[in-house]
Amino acid sequence: MEKGYAHLMANGSLHILVTNDDGVAAPGLLALAQEMRKIGDVSILAPERNWSTSGHVRTLDRPLRVREVSLADGTSAWASDGAPSDCVSMAICGFLEKKIDLVISGINPYANLGHDVTYSGTVTAAMEAAIWGIPAVAVSVDSPNNHLGVVDYAPAARMAAQVVKAVLRYGLSANVLLNVNVPYIPEDEMKGILVTRQGLRVYHDKLERREDPRGKPYFWTFGDAPSGVPERGTDIGALAEGYVSVTPIQLDLTAYRVIPDMNTWEWKPLQCVEVFPTSQHVRREIYVDDDLFARRAAYSGEQ
Ligand code: MN
Repeated sequence: MEKGYAHLMANGSLHILVTNDDGVAAPGLLALAQEMRKIGDVSILAPERNWSTSGHVRTLDRPLRVREVSLADGTSAWASDGAPSDCVSMAICGFLEKKIDLVISGINPYANLGHDVTYSGTVTAAMEAAIWGIPAVAVSVDSPNNHLGVVDYAPAARMAAQVVKAVLRYGLSANVLLNVNVPYIPEDEMKGILVTRQGLRVYHDKLERREDPRGKPYFWTFGDAPSGVPERGTDIGALAEGYVSVTPIQLDLTAYRVIPDMNTWEWKPLQCVEVFPTSQHVRREIYVDDDLFARRAAYSGEQ
């Protein structure tokens, strides 16, 4: 969508798919759906269970089932046993007969910042829509990890509506999604909306090895919630200063800056190279096919 979609909004024919990664019954989804209904026709297809931190998933080795459910406000929604990204692809591929104009995912109770984006079910649902060329927005609220009681999603839902209205007005480049993070502060204390880049997340994961009753080891990953470097211009910096962060995300993860250097590497045919020689137990070998290099040379015109 290179142009704005305001004409659809005016006609009342805008069709918005709402999904999430916390499960169809999550209060964040309900708050988002209610706000989106003020903008267009809303369909909901979301996972029936929590898929937080499940990453970008497509389920191809088993059937996907969908059932109709009622949300807490009495409206109906579809719940699937697939992942968030499955829900989006199913909806686009024809489960919903009406063409989808915009996909919005959330509202996640915790921020999705920096490197979180490929872990996040909330963001990867929006990524799936971007792959299909449909404008997409992921919405998360930065509620504190030790927050007690019910999270108030209403301010974040209203900020999401502002972002959607901007997308409708200005359009969004094809295959770009917006990752929106809203600070968990009163609305009148929010300083505004900043367009940001991804910041640097700092993870505090640890691994604990335990033994089951049969003496076999199993492992728990645990640790404090991730922190981050609150650099100005980044998503993390924006939240730290009380702004709503809107990061445009693309799926081209190519590290362009290293390509020139890698092109100076000598890609010689190698026979049986030992790699990772550090472990006495693990000896991994790679065999390189001489033909591959001959084909590459032919392809690039080298002799
Ligand atoms: Mn989640």
